[in-house]
Amino acid sequence: MGPPGAGKGTQAKILAEKYSLIHLSTGDILRGEISKKTDTGQEAQSYMDAGNLVPDNVLLSMMESTLIELQNSGIILDGFPRTIPQAKGLNDIFEKLNSKINHVLNIHVEESKLIKRLIERAQNSGRKDDTEEVIIKRQKVYTELTAPLINFYKNEIIQIDGDGTIDQVTQRILEYI
Ligand code: ADP
Repeated sequence: MGPPGAGKGTQAKILAEKYSLIHLSTGDILRGEISKKTDTGQEAQSYMDAGNLVPDNVLLSMMESTLIELQNSGIILDGFPRTIPQAKGLNDIFEKLNSKINHVLNIHVEESKLIKRLIERAQNSGRKDDTEEVIIKRQKVYTELTAPLINFYKNEIIQIDGDGTIDQVTQRILEYI
């Protein structure tokens, strides 16, 4: 977990490679659905372009089918759950699959630094939601809808300082693991 720009995707990719886990990024999956012009993609697009969250029911049904397909594999979830209803829905899915969350990592970075990072990334990301206005909107949505998950997972959450180089942040995570 972590706000937009904290480095979730970057670190998830490194960990997935190191520990042979499957990296599931809901942002990447949704962008794939948009480029394939599927029903899910068409439904998601306007929310994503505006920096809003895609509705919980869309995410939950998409993730339920993905997690059923990947049963018994080790997975790093990146960008999901992102709301309390999604976290509750994920618990239900895992209960059905007789599976569970082993670790929750939260990468935190000060908001002004995040905005600066995202504006820099915007120059070559080609993402429609990487304009300054939408970046600020995404931080606001994070604070309102996603930050409450820190309390939801308070018993298992591990806080990782996301300020520093990619390598430094990886080392902090590896130290914990
Ligand atoms: P970032 O975390 O940098 O904003 P992501 O690629 O993780 O980037 O997400 C991009 C967009 O995809 C989000 O702003 C949102 O619209 C949508 N999205 C991704 N994951 C979810 C989710 N779990 N619930 C709702 N919307 C999501």
